[in-house]
Amino acid sequence: MVELRNVSVRYSNGVDALKNVSLTINQGEFAFVVGESGAGKSTLIKLLIREIAPSSGKVFVGGMDVGRLKRDKIWKLRQKIGYVFQDFKLIDSLNVFDNVAFVPRCTDKSNKYMRNRVPYVLQLVGLKDKIKCMPRELSGGEQQRVALARALVCDPALIIADEPTGNLDPKTSMEIIELLQAVNECGTTVMMVTHEHEFVRAFGGRTISLSDGEKLFDEIIK
Ligand code: ADP
Repeated sequence: MVELRNVSVRYSNGVDALKNVSLTINQGEFAFVVGESGAGKSTLIKLLIREIAPSSGKVFVGGMDVGRLKRDKIWKLRQKIGYVFQDFKLIDSLNVFDNVAFVPRCTDKSNKYMRNRVPYVLQLVGLKDKIKCMPRELSGGEQQRVALARALVCDPALIIADEPTGNLDPKTSMEIIELLQAVNECGTTVMMVTHEHEFVRAFGGRTISLSDGEKLFDEIIK
């Protein structure tokens, strides 16, 4: 699903954010990507969504050669990816249903599809009874669940969760990771990026560690 082959990224100021990194995340896998601030985690995400291109090496997502994608094909790549942010990024003026329905409404998804799919994904994240609530009426954990439902609504092949627990207390963080794991068990590949090593140790599993732009280790933590 995700493959980096000898990827390096040098920003215009001369900083080498990634140095000859190779990694593979197979379809259906759940992988943590860990590293301290400045390790290169955001640069990795920016590569996967084609916000930047590699300075050298190859990046593949769902079989697409991301570095060589033409500008007018980037939307095709982004359709494969659901994104969960640290700060939820919900639209304050829209209720839960409309937040989740926002992206499909901007595409060619029919009203009938949304009337079924939006409640379905909200039920998956345990929030069907909050469908008419405004974001300000929800706890942080509930807002992140809405964000996860929004990421799932177009049925992506890959979920990228970028520090999804950064604004949450430890118990709620655990619940969000459990939910990401449940999503993964239904077949969606999940890459969760975090600097919070204690959660990774608590959950275990495939863990890719970046340090100063290099892959430090890639192992299954038990
Ligand atoms: P992380 O997400 O792990 O904190 P980043 O990928 O944001 O790490 O950053 C990796 C390195 O690249 C850091 O040294 C950072 O200062 C540098 N960097 C990140 N973005 C840019 C940019 N747009 N221009 C120049 N340097 C950058």
